[in-house]
Amino acid sequence: VRNEGSNHRHDVLLGGRWSSSTSGERIDAVSAATEEVVGSVPCAGQHEVDAAVDLARRSFEDGTWRSTSLVERSAAVLALADALATRAERTAQFASIENGTPWSASLPMNGHGPSVLVRSLVEQASSLELRTTRRGLVREGTIVREPVGVVAAIVPWNGPVNLTLGKIVPALLAGCPVIIKAAPETPLTSYSLADALAEIGLPTGTVSLLVGGPEAGRALVEHDGVDKVAFTGSTATGRWIMERCATRIRRVTMELGGKSAAVLLDDVDLDTVLPQLLPRMTLLNGQACIALTRIVVPRARHDEVVDGLTDRLRALQIGDPLVPGTDIGPLVSQRQRDRVEGYIAAGRRSDASLVLGGGRPEACPKGWFVEPTLFAGVDNAAVIAQEEIFGPVWCVIPHDGDDDAIRIANDSPYGLAGAIFSGDRARGLALADRLRAGVVGVNGWSSDPGHPFGGFKQSGLGREGGIEGFDPYLETKVIVDHSEFEGS
Ligand code: NAD
Repeated sequence: VRNEGSNHRHDVLLGGRWSSSTSGERIDAVSAATEEVVGSVPCAGQHEVDAAVDLARRSFEDGTWRSTSLVERSAAVLALADALATRAERTAQFASIENGTPWSASLPMNGHGPSVLVRSLVEQASSLELRTTRRGLVREGTIVREPVGVVAAIVPWNGPVNLTLGKIVPALLAGCPVIIKAAPETPLTSYSLADALAEIGLPTGTVSLLVGGPEAGRALVEHDGVDKVAFTGSTATGRWIMERCATRIRRVTMELGGKSAAVLLDDVDLDTVLPQLLPRMTLLNGQACIALTRIVVPRARHDEVVDGLTDRLRALQIGDPLVPGTDIGPLVSQRQRDRVEGYIAAGRRSDASLVLGGGRPEACPKGWFVEPTLFAGVDNAAVIAQEEIFGPVWCVIPHDGDDDAIRIANDSPYGLAGAIFSGDRARGLALADRLRAGVVGVNGWSSDPGHPFGGFKQSGLGREGGIEGFDPYLETKVIVDHSEFEGS
């Protein structure tokens, strides 16, 4: 593979082949833990966007990819699982360096997980019915599910591989050519995915991967040659993209922000619950859309929960994400740390009590570290309880019984994830039905590629994963044969 040995890359994956970049601009890969530049890639500009869309458009119009059978496409895409597996450690290392994910989480998530995800999605696609015949009220019709067209997949830095695969694998299996716009914060991680995509040699035009900033994303969203935008990122950007797509009724799916609640009922055993809860709070150093960041607890047990959480958070190892045993790494960038520190300042100004953290860890003078920070006695109306912080900052919010707990959990513009913890399983399951969120756990939390994933309210639109995750990449057409009725 050209260039794969170097962390300074000069080519761009256009239509599945490496091409020389013409942009002239470059994006540095920066270690979040040391602030050092560890590599660089070309920054995609309008020229690359135009070239990628043109190649994808031609592939779509010529039928190069979409006229293949689902079985052929599945075989071609399955090769990606092996290509990713051979790069698993390298990809996971890049992700740890660039976005700060501790190695213990990065290896399964960015290293081994992607191949598992590809295999799972290919397996699920085998149950897709792309052509079926059924009788309507009067006549028989053939229901055809066709690829939606050229797909732009715009992704953030926190799950640079899996979030991309969650879009492009269903899109490719549906028969759509794709253009990935990867985040500028994780360029080498994304180039590792590009290497795997180049290796499997899909037909020309089928897949491009561009690393660039918001300008490249905007250029794609506004390009006439794009039929559908699959976006993961902030709600603010998602809103802008939806507005732009509205003018052409362009298809969109949105995986956006979250402010998810973990609701503890009065019968919980904290020794059981806190070890379950903690990893769901601290995932990706708190930079996870699905992180449980509002801990809604019985008022009578508030202090007990706060003490238990404080002890456990204090025991976490903060440091270089590549060092084994690190629990909390740095945030992705200075910009992200500024944002998180702004929220900590807002929390200090509120009526909440800061019980842990609030500053930068003394042992980490370099890198974008923030101490695990816990606010207690938080009013759910406070800014720190309503807005997504995207860092290691959590709110403990008292509730006055089950109904009040559900009211608080649902009193949010977001609705991505949620969890109910109870010593009584039936009570927990009954309350789970009342949470207005897309992915709900009882006495734990997990997501599974075989299940649909996505948000209620301002957390998103549409679903990824599961058989539902193919729907956004398929248009439905009905063909009715009138020949016999017309006497021909
Ligand atoms: P962001 O919205 O700033 O950027 C996301 C992507 O969009 C990046 O590739 C960025 O370059 C691009 N972009 C920015 N402005 C654009 C524009 N106007 N047009 C087109 N593209 C544009 O988000 P971020 O801060 O990088 O990522 C964190 C956010 O992502 C958080 O809000 C988090 O909750 C969300 N997220 C959601 C999910 C989910 O599945 N719901 C998963 C991960 C992250």
